Amino acid sequence: MDRSTEKFEVKNLNTEYIGHSIVYKKITDSTNTECKRLCDSRAEEGLTVVAEKQTAGRGRLGRQWDSPEGTGIWMSVMLKPQVNPERASKVTILAAAAVYMALKDMGIDSGIKWPNDIVIGSKKICGILTEMKCTGENIDYVVVGIGINVNTEKFPEDLAEKATSLKIETGQFVDRNELIGRILTWIEVFYQSFRTSGDINKVIEIVRQGSIVLGKDVLLIRGNEEIQCKVRDIDNDGELLVEYKEDGSVHRVISGEISIRGLYGYI
Ligand code: ADP
Repeated sequence: MDRSTEKFEVKNLNTEYIGHSIVYKKITDSTNTECKRLCDSRAEEGLTVVAEKQTAGRGRLGRQWDSPEGTGIWMSVMLKPQVNPERASKVTILAAAAVYMALKDMGIDSGIKWPNDIVIGSKKICGILTEMKCTGENIDYVVVGIGINVNTEKFPEDLAEKATSLKIETGQFVDRNELIGRILTWIEVFYQSFRTSGDINKVIEIVRQGSIVLGKDVLLIRGNEEIQCKVRDIDNDGELLVEYKEDGSVHRVISGEISIRGLYGYI
């Protein structure tokens, strides 16, 4: 997958199980969809799917994720946490913290845009999509998909205003194999405590540290509704505490179907 060798060989992987089994595809519809197909045939926890290109990459609420060939990281990891299904959505901020730390390891400063994006400056370099399957109160599996614009040089017109890549921002080619290894390693670090108890204390610390929305005036978008508010805090459960501009009332915003925008642009 590295440009110089065109070989897929994850580097800097230091885990006990995450990413030990990696399915590498030149092309797939969506790595989350592929991963879910494999989960249904009883794959092991930590299974990772990586693709060079997605033909139907997805964001939340069925939105599209642009995933051109050879320049990005399009990957999904399968987890089987033994926690209440209600906690499964925390895997999204867990993965965001992992991407943020992996980039930091590589000398790249980024920001976490709660709940599921990583940005540089005011543009998005990474999106995260978590999906799960449950039987009653048990989680069968959680699949967390991570899409990163790594060496992308140009974006389609409709994305150019809000998307950027590591290459555009740093001016340098970034080794995808190394970044994948580092992200998987951080996922395992954070997942160890989450796996059985649902604990995300360390993750919250990182998310607060890297957050670009804390203290900011933002627009909350839920369906057709738009609310102007100030972000007051990220609580110990990773949810957002906001103060409505309109009447000063304070609300807890649960991630999921909410999008956040700056008052004057993407953020
Ligand atoms: P939002 O950012 O609006 O909350 P999502 O997190 O679901 O929404 O991400 C999907 C959105 O991200 C798409 O509607 C599109 O605007 C944008 N997008 C799609 N592909 C990319 C990409 N490769 N890089 C950055 N942004 C993208």
